[in-house]
Amino acid sequence: MFLSNSFIPILKNNPSEAKIKSHQLMLRVGMIKQASAGIYSWLPLGFKVMKKIEDIVRQEQNKIGAQEILMPTIQSSEIWKESGRYDDYGEEMLRITDRQNREMLYGPTNEEQVTEIFRSSIKSYKSLPQLMYHIQWKFRDEIRPRFGIMRGREFYMKDAYSFDVSDEEAFYSYNKFFLSYLRTFKRLSLTAIPMAADTGPIGGNLSHEFVILADTGESKIFTDKRIFDLDNDDTKLEKISLQSMRKKYEQFYAVTDEKFNKEEFEKIVSKENQLITKGIEVGHIFYFGDKYSKPMGASVDLPGGKKDFVKMGSYGIGVSRLVGAIIEAKYDEKNEIMKWPLSVAPYDIAIIPMINKNDTSALDSANNINKQLLKNNIDAIIDDTDENFSSKIKKMNLIGAPYQIIIGKKSEADLLEFKETGEEIQNLPLGKIIEIITKRKNSI
Ligand code: ATP
Ligand code: MG
Repeated sequence: MFLSNSFIPILKNNPSEAKIKSHQLMLRVGMIKQASAGIYSWLPLGFKVMKKIEDIVRQEQNKIGAQEILMPTIQSSEIWKESGRYDDYGEEMLRITDRQNREMLYGPTNEEQVTEIFRSSIKSYKSLPQLMYHIQWKFRDEIRPRFGIMRGREFYMKDAYSFDVSDEEAFYSYNKFFLSYLRTFKRLSLTAIPMAADTGPIGGNLSHEFVILADTGESKIFTDKRIFDLDNDDTKLEKISLQSMRKKYEQFYAVTDEKFNKEEFEKIVSKENQLITKGIEVGHIFYFGDKYSKPMGASVDLPGGKKDFVKMGSYGIGVSRLVGAIIEAKYDEKNEIMKWPLSVAPYDIAIIPMINKNDTSALDSANNINKQLLKNNIDAIIDDTDENFSSKIKKMNLIGAPYQIIIGKKSEADLLEFKETGEEIQNLPLGKIIEIITKRKNSI
């Protein structure tokens, strides 16, 4: 892709309305454009990143056996009246009336809708468990939308739902999602810690928030540092293995302020392991038993001939918020260098030729290099504009492809000036560069 043909409206300076670095960068390089308060259009660069995040989220859902569906954004108020949440949800719900005067709403979440789908078809324990998810826009009329897409009113979320015959089976489903969340965030190159959380308006009794550390985060967290050293590489998708994996995490104190108890914290966690800081909530999982299935009459036949209400959980990931969360974690704002993790980068590599009016040789070699990269499925952006070299580098540092090739006067025939964005230049042949990137891509 050539920069001159791309719709990447870069601003010279930081926009003054943005208070945190993710919002600054997203406006600065034209990833998003505000449409109205808390509502954004996604421009090519931002959309590309979000779609890559969505793909990773999807792959990790599929790996635990969750099935993708797509529910509508607009829901009928009827099912929300059945669950009792039509009144409870309050002003965050955007309520709409259609031409027949029917009360509709823009879905803030989908427990009711998915329970309605489930109850119309599944009648027996033999069809359980069922894990279903969708990736869809949500709307919550947040009282203070802020920080760009971090707390938007319209936002993109993956929400999954589990249906089981008993508490025990439901915990098994819960633990599958717990693992899939850890794996998802790791592939996004984020360290997200699961923290015991309050269940809020979703209701229920078991819940974890997945939080990444960031000074600009809105969640206050209290934790035992040692939780950061855990890994789950050898966890299998079996009941016992998953159980002990969750136990391993739960042995360490990790809560948000709603659950914080100072006395308990100081008693359980030794001074040197105490960490009090801020974070961004990127995912939230809940187990709530029959909270929705009971009022909505979603029951199944049990082995002995009895019936019981199905046991449900729900599992959210803020796909659009993750774009901002990754920037918060990776953007070096002082030097104005963004380096996207290769797994979600808008481009794998930037090619920066120094172009001279009378001499197209640098651009010609950029074209040739790009052809080779394309053959190897490496997605490059080429700065074919005739700006000066330092402003080219500045721009590309903001766009944040993880690698750069610089084609300057010094370039020799077969050795290229190559670097990881923000690091030192190495002189390497193209074949070696392709090998490095391909190897990294295959390990994601
Ligand atoms: P928060 O405490 O940040 O308001 P929540 O507990 O209301 O989040 P959930 O209902 O659990 O959020 O939604 C699942 C995920 O959706 C959250 O973990 C978060 O990543 C994302 N999310 C929630 N509200 C917003 C929002 N207004 N803008 C962007 N993402 C959001
Ligand atoms: Mg909320």
